[in-house]
Amino acid sequence: MFMGHYAPAVWDTKRGHAVPLIPLWLGFLAVQFIDIIFASLAIFGVEGAGTMIGGVPIFDIPYSHSLLSALILSIIGAAIFMAIVKPRSRKAFFVFALLIFSHWILDLVVHRPDLPLYPGGELMLGFGVWNYPLAAFVLEMGLLLLAFVFWMHVTVPISRIFSIAPWILFTLMGALQYFAIVMPGLQVQNGTFDMAAAPQGVFLGISALLVFAFIAGAVAAIERGRPSKFKR
Ligand SMILES: [Zn+2]
Repeated sequence: MFMGHYAPAVWDTKRGHAVPLIPLWLGFLAVQFIDIIFASLAIFGVEGAGTMIGGVPIFDIPYSHSLLSALILSIIGAAIFMAIVKPRSRKAFFVFALLIFSHWILDLVVHRPDLPLYPGGELMLGFGVWNYPLAAFVLEMGLLLLAFVFWMHVTVPISRIFSIAPWILFTLMGALQYFAIVMPGLQVQNGTFDMAAAPQGVFLGISALLVFAFIAGAVAAIERGRPSKFKR
């Protein structure tokens, strides 16, 4: 999954909580933590090389995306995020860990089978919704839309710009989803996908990290202007 990953991030903005346990922008980083590890490994050439198997691209992501890695990364990542924000409640650890692990569950739905149980494991999991690019687009952007509607519902904008800004971000995220997932997906479908021309390695890793940083930065800016509706 790509943009759909961000949907669970708003969950902590719970109805009735004046102050969420974690800042929303860090939630937006937590849901992509596994892909941040993937992007970093791709920069060093450890992961990310794709091969065409049965006419579809299968990516080599054993260390960042195995089930075992996802469990371990959820704990390590949550500890790192706790050290960054030092939240007022230890419960925040579980919020971070669950957000990080949600990445693997959502990837399981869309990925073509390239998720092993442990690094080097032969059984590859993935329900392959990305094989249906338009359905996948509706699924991912639908999840994100629900999340944004919920976010708008539990916060109030301090000025007009903060009622518009989230929807500008949403549109940008939709465009990113279209170019990064739908377009190559349609090419795979009609047999014109060229693995050699697809972004890989250093370029893929750096552009992914920039996208993740940009989105988290945008959310950090927007959430300052959209405090919770609920009084302390
Ligand atoms: Zn992923």
